[in-house]
Amino acid sequence: MTKKIFQSVLLACAAVMIACIFLFLGVLYNYYGDLQATQLEQELGMACVGVQQQGEGYLQALDDSGCRLTWIAADGTVLYDTTTEASQMENHAAREEISQALSTGFGESARYSATLTQQTRYFARLMEDGTVLRISDSRMTVWALALASIQPICVILAIALILSGLLAARLSRNIVQPLEAIDLDRPLEADTYEELAPLLSRLEQQHRQIRNQQQHLEDREREFRAVADNMTEGLVLLSARGTILSINHAALRFFGSTDACIGQDFITLDRSREIEDAIREAELDRRAERILSRGGREYQLGISRVEEGGKESGVVLLIFDVTEKVFAERNRREFTANVSHELKTPLQSIMGSAELLENGLVRPEDTQVFLRRIREQSARLVRLIDDIIHLSQLDEKAELPVEKISLDDLAKQEIQSLSAAAEAQNITVSYDASPVCITAPRPLLHEILYNLLDNAIKYNVPGGKVFLEITRKGKNVALTVRDTGIGIPPEHQSRIFERFYRVDKSHSRQIGGTGLGLSIVKHAVLDLGGEISVQSAPGKGTAILVTLPVKE
Ligand code: ADP
Repeated sequence: MTKKIFQSVLLACAAVMIACIFLFLGVLYNYYGDLQATQLEQELGMACVGVQQQGEGYLQALDDSGCRLTWIAADGTVLYDTTTEASQMENHAAREEISQALSTGFGESARYSATLTQQTRYFARLMEDGTVLRISDSRMTVWALALASIQPICVILAIALILSGLLAARLSRNIVQPLEAIDLDRPLEADTYEELAPLLSRLEQQHRQIRNQQQHLEDREREFRAVADNMTEGLVLLSARGTILSINHAALRFFGSTDACIGQDFITLDRSREIEDAIREAELDRRAERILSRGGREYQLGISRVEEGGKESGVVLLIFDVTEKVFAERNRREFTANVSHELKTPLQSIMGSAELLENGLVRPEDTQVFLRRIREQSARLVRLIDDIIHLSQLDEKAELPVEKISLDDLAKQEIQSLSAAAEAQNITVSYDASPVCITAPRPLLHEILYNLLDNAIKYNVPGGKVFLEITRKGKNVALTVRDTGIGIPPEHQSRIFERFYRVDKSHSRQIGGTGLGLSIVKHAVLDLGGEISVQSAPGKGTAILVTLPVKE
């Protein structure tokens, strides 16, 4: 803009200057032309008087005096000329000024030289004797004059151009400076030309609009990110070219990456063939699903093609953590298989014994043995079914009524109910229970205490000891059942809480175990918001530690 203003001002100045010079030249030329004409006319008048009085002698006396005077007879014959021999001059009757003077008494004309650099002006006057006296003088034409003064004109023009250049530079700077000083973020604060006010207020209005739209977009983006980042499912948005447009925290955790991957190709995030194939499949068939195992967890991957106007505009990846679902399904299948097996074993034993008795294949003295076996196996079946029912009740998470329970009283009752079993093996059960009240469903606390004490007696050695300790620890109560029994080998300790898991199957069966006791205990402890752990050494004994929140 500065350049344009500079050029325009310079051009205008130069044009004005040239026009002025030529105008000035023209005016001067005309002025001096008029002055010359007046002088010639005056001189002609005086010469007429002189010639009338003195004749040719007057003209001879004027020789070489400046202007050319020519005396012409009425027929056009040149009588005398102050510059040329009259006899050598042709007849002048046809000359414009002469014919005018002869007819009107005064004539004038102007003629240019062959090179057009000179103009000669003629004035002729008819004298009383019928002759005509003509005066003439030459001067440069206006172009010749301009040409002759080209040098000073150029000097003037150069000076004028330099001055107008400086002026143009200053002017353009002065014009542009206030425009450059406009802060486009706050156009209304600018102290500039009044004429720009409507433009600046429009600018401000547009700025406000853009700011509002930007704010709106940022809010939407923030909302989207907040929602996406709070999702437990992983979410990845890819462009049609496979560039990562957006990725939430869950997906970053899944791929083990950071926000830096946004804007990069998906391949930088994951190179697995499985996901790549699934994306290709979704691009072709609109949707693809996969189950992936990563870091010991199971994930379901759902990929959908996003379309806009019938064209693919991107791909959405949704990652669901289905570990619990998959494990629950696996557990359910295993549990069903185990239950069938566990139920079948005592039933087969009952059926076998009953068949033998029915067919009279049992000796009378052995009848009691078979009948006892039937009773024992039936009792085992009942225990098994009871435990399955308890477990399924816990699985269903049925809302059980809570009550304030004195844990030490309950412990005493449980020890009492197991005293016969303990006595049968000569096992001493003792306890140290602080008076602690806990608000919880009674059946859950019963399952915990009963099963732990039952196991401590069952897996003890004759003459062994069982010790129950209940202590208050802040907002929790610690419940420890310690025994001096057979102990659990370290490699089994992490698995004893699994359903139907038994360290020694035949021993467990023999002593009436179902393999469900500890899984019921763990389930109940977790339902109450507590924790359970085991410490055991084979041949020395076992301690099961349970911590429960008191929730008074
Ligand atoms: P079970 O009905 O067979 O006792 P549990 O679920 O109660 O089933 O226990 C699982 C297994 O853990 C048992 O079979 C046993 O091998 C082991 N176990 C549990 N408690 C004890 C303990 N106090 N001492 C030694 N082994 C134990």
